[in-house]
Amino acid sequence: MPAEGGGQRTRVCVLGPSGRMGRAVLEAARGRDDLRIAAAVDRGDAGGLGVIVSDGVVASADLDAGLAACDVYIDFTAPAASRAVAQAAARFHCAAVIGTTGLGPADDEALAALARVSPIVVAANFSLGVNFVLGMVRQAARVLGPEWDAEVVETHHRAKRDAPSGTALMIARAIAAGHGVDYDQVKRHGRDGDVGPRPRGEIGVSSVRGGDIIGEHTAYFFGAAERLEISHRATSRSIFAAGALRAATWVTGQPPGRYDMLDVLGLQ
Ligand code: NAD
Repeated sequence: MPAEGGGQRTRVCVLGPSGRMGRAVLEAARGRDDLRIAAAVDRGDAGGLGVIVSDGVVASADLDAGLAACDVYIDFTAPAASRAVAQAAARFHCAAVIGTTGLGPADDEALAALARVSPIVVAANFSLGVNFVLGMVRQAARVLGPEWDAEVVETHHRAKRDAPSGTALMIARAIAAGHGVDYDQVKRHGRDGDVGPRPRGEIGVSSVRGGDIIGEHTAYFFGAAERLEISHRATSRSIFAAGALRAATWVTGQPPGRYDMLDVLGLQ
């Protein structure tokens, strides 16, 4: 059993230790006395297999061994990997912290199956600031109403695969919730060609890609002769890694189910 007051350290398996976020999680875990890295699992053809990533822990492609050695795994990989790992983790009743974005319905089903036997935290953004922004945009949308045109713009590094970002979608959905509407009925992901005048109540999301930008999001509310902008800028992946570790120590004490970062932060 993991920490939770008893002094025992939560055992963590990091997936994708050679990736940008995997490296940030390993770095953030260094020197912590409430958790320890128990395993690191990457795909079979990844660079860095066999390398020591933490005290006595070698990056390996043996998923079952990694899951058997941990209380909770942290997953910042890719949708197909997140699905396959969740299916395997259900056999081990592992808790999970999942930050992979761009998940589709089949991936969500695998996560739902895992959540029936284990507690899992799924969040497209683990930063405290972004989760605070979600509450602010929801309130702004509720107070200002759809008469103020709401748009979300997100900017990320050139290697990001999915668009719009998971965080931009969370922000746009929070605006829709503030308007009291179904997001899928009002969303507009990008514009191209003769799209006509902007319909009242539409929520637009635009994606910019370039350089090494870690993640920037702005929610705009355009009124008549005034506008409101609510922005968040990440300047280091360490904020996501710290949030994921906080989620990892929190989730191991919870009953089976799917949780998000608002649950971890007590903001629900
Ligand atoms: P990356 O490409 O740098 O790293 C991905 C890692 O996953 C690589 O090490 C790769 O080898 C590994 N991997 C792929 N398949 C695997 C498998 N089957 N088993 C084990 N490892 C496997 O990507 P990144 O920039 O670190 O981002 C990863 C994901 O995290 C993306 O979906 C990104 O959008 C998301 N992300 C989420 C947050 C958040 O706060 N939730 C923050 C940043 C990034």
